[in-house]
Amino acid sequence: MNHEFDAIRRLFQQRVPFTHQTTTVHNGDDASVHDIPEGFEMVISTDTAVQAIHWPVDMPLNIAGARAVNAALSDLAAMGAMPAWIWLAISAKDKQSLAQMSDGIVQTCLAHNIELAGGDTTRSATNAINVTVGGLIPKGSAMTRTSAKRDDEIWLLGELGLSAAGLKQWQSGDINGKFVPHFQTIKPQLKQGIQLRELGVQCCLDVSDGLLQDTGHLCHGSNLSFEIEVTKLQTLQSYQQLPPLFGEEKSLEMMLNGGEDYALLFTAKPSLHSKLLNIGAHHIGQCVSGDSVHLKNKGQIIDYTMNGFDHFA
Ligand code: ADP
Ligand code: MG
Repeated sequence: MNHEFDAIRRLFQQRVPFTHQTTTVHNGDDASVHDIPEGFEMVISTDTAVQAIHWPVDMPLNIAGARAVNAALSDLAAMGAMPAWIWLAISAKDKQSLAQMSDGIVQTCLAHNIELAGGDTTRSATNAINVTVGGLIPKGSAMTRTSAKRDDEIWLLGELGLSAAGLKQWQSGDINGKFVPHFQTIKPQLKQGIQLRELGVQCCLDVSDGLLQDTGHLCHGSNLSFEIEVTKLQTLQSYQQLPPLFGEEKSLEMMLNGGEDYALLFTAKPSLHSKLLNIGAHHIGQCVSGDSVHLKNKGQIIDYTMNGFDHFA
């Protein structure tokens, strides 16, 4: 028995029996083959997570595995795609690390009914997980970074800063801290992404590198200025939860610059306003002509830096 193939079968292939209806050649061959149904397009994205870079060395590897898959799936959520498959390139220091990472990866595939359509398994000096995700979307309906229109409203679905707060607690040794679960558990907003796309939203991304930085991607992609109103961010639940522990200023800084929130940031025509409120989205600003991100407090532009807050007027 070849140990490598035995491990791949035992740890991965046999544990994710789900196959997607479009797959015509399954895991186990040199490549998988998929039929794209009439009227649909395929959406693909890839994401790498490396131990000590993307997750702390003292984080359990099953949690790291689940995070890696969920973070990759969040890109499908941002496009409004229906998730279907993942392909997994995994590098492990030893057998035990491989088994632990596989636990979280397998559980996440099962939780989302996603096919593990293929992969590659290697030994390496560092544990690392590359996840390629694939999904389907009705032709021409993908939400993109380039589709915001002038006078669109800016919206957010999800919370901000909670993961950054959890990381801070983890790093300070408070591994049972209140916010640590937000850092450990990434929840890709797949259903919400589909819902937004079905409502006619055209411009969206998932916030992985901090609200301000990611708003910059929409702003440059769509050639518009994005005005974000701080008082609206202060109506988020995160702004109720963070200040008792971190103070108001630090909390806002984490909400503006903290990473790995995986909230959906999108723009929409004002006519969608009440529908978006109904699904729990937060209206946080306005697209206007221009080419920059502006932070406003009660309508007045205020200063900020990307890595830290200067002041609030
Ligand atoms: P090849 O030599 O053709 O690249 P491999 O020997 O790397 O194929 O892998 C054998 C089969 O197992 C392939 O079908 C591959 O997609 C699958 N596979 C390898 N590693 C994994 C993994 N970690 N999870 C799921 N499938 C995997
Ligand atoms: Mg081959």
